[in-house]
Amino acid sequence: PTRYVAPVSCVTERHVAERTWTLTTTVACSSPLLYWKHTNSFMGAAAAAPRCLVLAGPSGVGKGTVLARLSQVLPDVFGFSVSHTTRAPRPGECDGREYHFVTEEEFQRARAEGRFLETASVHGQWYGTSWEAIERVRRTGRICVLDIDVQGVRSIRAAKLPALVVFLRPPSMAELERRLRGRGTEDEAKIQRRLETAAEELRIAHEEPSLFDAIIENQDLEETCAQLRKLLDEEVQALRGVREAGAASAAQRTSGKH
Ligand code: ADP
Ligand code: 5GP
Repeated sequence: PTRYVAPVSCVTERHVAERTWTLTTTVACSSPLLYWKHTNSFMGAAAAAPRCLVLAGPSGVGKGTVLARLSQVLPDVFGFSVSHTTRAPRPGECDGREYHFVTEEEFQRARAEGRFLETASVHGQWYGTSWEAIERVRRTGRICVLDIDVQGVRSIRAAKLPALVVFLRPPSMAELERRLRGRGTEDEAKIQRRLETAAEELRIAHEEPSLFDAIIENQDLEETCAQLRKLLDEEVQALRGVREAGAASAAQRTSGKH
C-alpha cells in the first residue's frame, strides 16, 4: 500500500507545560486520514480543524473567479493549495503563486518520491497536489482550497481526506464556450481540448453526483458565492474555534511567564 510521507516541516511546535517540544522525525502514515489526525493531535488542537474545500468543474466554468470573490467576502479565511503542473504559465501567472511550473521530469521525480497526495493528466498535461501545498496552508490556519479536476476528486475521496467537495457546472455548454473564449487565454486547439474534457466531466457529475457534497450551477456569480458560503458555514465556525483555542493557549502561556 502507498505510504504517505508528510514533509518534516509540517510538524512544528507544540507548547506543553511551558515547554516547547518540536517533533523532528518525518511522519509516515498509511493514509492521509491518519496523517490528518496525527498532525491535528500533535498540534494540540483543542478544536477540530476545518475541512478542506475542493472546488471542481470544467475549465472556464468560473472556479477561479468564484474563489477570488469568496476571498473578498471572507478575508483571511482561505488559503490556496498551489499545485504542480507541467503546463506552461499563462501571461501574468507567476511560478509558486498560481502553480509550481515544472518540467515533466521534475514532476515524475516528485511523484516517485511520494510528494503528491494526488496527480492527474488533464488536457494532456500533468497536475498534482503535493502534501506540502496543503501543509503550507494549514500552517497559516486557513481553510485550504483545492481547485482540481474530477480525477483528483476521486483520489481525494479514495484517500479520505476530510474535505467539502463542490462541483461547479455551467448553465450550458454554449455559455462555457463563451466564457472560455472570453477569457482569451487559450488558442483554438486548446479550447477544443478543454471543451471535450468538459463534456466528460459534466457526464461524470451527472452520472455520479454522490462524488460531490454539492453541485452548483454557476449562473450568477453572487448567487453561487452565497450558496458556497452557506455550505461553508460549519467550516468557518470550525476555523473560528481553532483560532480562539489558539489565542486562549497563547494567552495562558504569556500569563504563565509572569
Ligand atoms: P476556471 O477557473 O473555472 O477555469 P475562470 O474563473 O477563469 O474559470 O472563469 C472563466 C471566465 O468566465 C472568466 O472570464 C470569468 O470572468 C467568467 N465568469 C466566471 N463566472 C462567471 C459567471 N457567473 N457569469 C459570467 N461569467 C463568469
Ligand atoms: P488550468 O490549466 O486551466 O489551470 O487547469 C486545468 C484543469 O486542471 C482544471 O480543471 C483544474 O481544476 C485542474 N487542476 C489544477 N490543479 C490540479 C491538481 O493539482 N490536481 C488535479 N487533479 N487537477 C488539477
